Amino acid sequence: MYPKKFENLILAFQNLPGVGRKTAERYAFETLNWEQEKREEFVNALQVLIEGVDTCKVCGNLSDGDTCSICSDQNRNHTLLCVVQSPKDILAIESIQEYKGVYHVLNGVINTSKGILPEDINIDSLVDRIHKDEIKEVILALDPTVEGETTSLYIEKLIGKDVLVTRLAYGIPMGGHLDYTDSLTLLKAFQGRK
Ligand SMILES: [Zn+2]
Repeated sequence: MYPKKFENLILAFQNLPGVGRKTAERYAFETLNWEQEKREEFVNALQVLIEGVDTCKVCGNLSDGDTCSICSDQNRNHTLLCVVQSPKDILAIESIQEYKGVYHVLNGVINTSKGILPEDINIDSLVDRIHKDEIKEVILALDPTVEGETTSLYIEKLIGKDVLVTRLAYGIPMGGHLDYTDSLTLLKAFQGRK
């Protein structure tokens, strides 16, 4: 048996996805052997878990302040709006360097079996934005899952015919996830949106 404090460190690492007991033990030994300065940096970085991260008041993306770097970028097309499930998806889309519009993060999708209803995700603010910011095209880039599909249909109905609504032309099978999609497939999905 390890000392309690050390055991706790192992268990903390073990909570991470894909990390088993053996790897967690290795991480614990490794980090404890780091120099003081490196250990302090590591602990400081983890502090965000308690303090939380700022989210953009406009789009819901992770941010260093009230407005994220994408929303405050005047070189982007602010009448083109891409709707995603999570900030992770923004990162994936930004990496293909094809899209020059702005985003709206729903922070989830409608999932009635888990009790997640339209009012639990950022749909109201989306509709407000569409009317207020004179959005010309809304791109629905939700995961091709049953829940993603349900949410897309719900939003389409809600927006009505005033605004052009397009969807990514996925080359990935039903049940896939946008942020795991490779860049080329994602690029094609954007270019082929309909
Ligand atoms: Zn933003």
